[in-house]
Amino acid sequence: MSTISDFLNKNARQSVQDAIAKAKDNDSYHALLSLTEERALERADAVDRGEITGKLAGVPFVVKDNFLAYGAPTTAASTMLETFNAPLQATAVERLEAEGAICIGKANLDAFAHGGSTENSAFGPTKNAVDPTRVAGGSSGGSAVVTALDIVPFALGSDTGGSIRQPASFNGVVGVKPTYGTVSRYGVVAMASSTDTIGTFATTVTDAELVMSIMAGQDPKDMTTLPDFFTATTDALVGLKIGLVKECMTDDVDVEVRARTNEYVEKLKSAGHKVEEVSLSMLPHSLAMYYVIVPAELSSNLARYDGIRYGHRAQGVQTLAELYGKSRDEGFVTENKRRIMIGSYVLSSGFFDAYYLQAQKARTLLINEFNTLFSHYDVLISPVAPTPAFLLGENTSDPIKMYLADMMTVPASLAGIPALSVPAGTNGAGLPIGVQLMGARRSDATLFALARSMEAK
Ligand code: GLN
Repeated sequence: MSTISDFLNKNARQSVQDAIAKAKDNDSYHALLSLTEERALERADAVDRGEITGKLAGVPFVVKDNFLAYGAPTTAASTMLETFNAPLQATAVERLEAEGAICIGKANLDAFAHGGSTENSAFGPTKNAVDPTRVAGGSSGGSAVVTALDIVPFALGSDTGGSIRQPASFNGVVGVKPTYGTVSRYGVVAMASSTDTIGTFATTVTDAELVMSIMAGQDPKDMTTLPDFFTATTDALVGLKIGLVKECMTDDVDVEVRARTNEYVEKLKSAGHKVEEVSLSMLPHSLAMYYVIVPAELSSNLARYDGIRYGHRAQGVQTLAELYGKSRDEGFVTENKRRIMIGSYVLSSGFFDAYYLQAQKARTLLINEFNTLFSHYDVLISPVAPTPAFLLGENTSDPIKMYLADMMTVPASLAGIPALSVPAGTNGAGLPIGVQLMGARRSDATLFALARSMEAK
């Protein structure tokens, strides 16, 4: 698969044309919702004329279609925003463009990023890059698939509860969910404000780190961004203490997923690191916390789609209440509505204390447990998901089964800690399997250094 350096000092128009041609050839995967061809070629010509320079000059990339970007509508894979043309660009996109990168298209996702398979897109699912009868994972499924199909060397995603890590694992590429606050969320359609993070897919750890280092940094437009802390580590990593999370290695977890994780652990040991089994006892409770807190936050965030200010507006209604109701009914998919209802319920008077407040208290216990573990261990390791990519349609009628696929990724989201998803081989049928490396807040550079050192092994 190609890497970023393959595109540097090349004719940018040619690179963009090649990427767009490849995207069109792979149309059957339905990984992209739109191409930004005209704008991409204009920018490529400016790179070729030397007017645009930078660390990513002429490198094509794709963004998940919940990032505001010029050149095509920003739909969040929803009818609500189907014709919404962004008046501004996300800070993450602006920063990459400032270094000469060229966005060629917008990737499919679960509508408003609600999901773990990209089957909740209002425009149809994305197919897995390795086995098109299976899901791409999600919600950033399209971004994972365009990277895995080698259409572009990197693609942006958002990760609120696993939406970068899990599709990375399902398609055999690297996926990064940074420390909460590393990259500005400005200009990205909000899901759950306290766990939304911006990250990337790439074919190598080095490329992923380069992209993150460019996007990272404080942004006056997002008050939760951290003061710059992201600097690549050059220190050699010797003798790290690593904890293998035993709650992620139970008999319920696919045997080949456990086998690949154990092999990765053996490689870590051969590289001189110490790996011990540890317990994250709050992990089995994390899904329950997540599916209270996240719907609560997203129901508030989605209140802005009222059919009045922007987005889809229903026709043929008589009253204002009908306008709100019908616009939202037509603009959201079933999963959006399910979550809005759960969120409104857990925030309502009488239930707030019983659900939302309890979930927040449990979240503090989870954070405390992570902190204790990170006072003894440099890194924690687990699989990314309990299974490899499942079949299209396999879990769509059972939301609880679908939510269970998130059990290993949501803890890092609730705690705001960084987590990488790195390829760890395949199962007997050739389906990719990933492992997850987690670290304390702001230890992103250590995770990159460790993952990179293991990549060649
Ligand atoms: N699959 C998880 C969910 O459905 C994660 C979504 C995300 O990270 N955007 O909430």
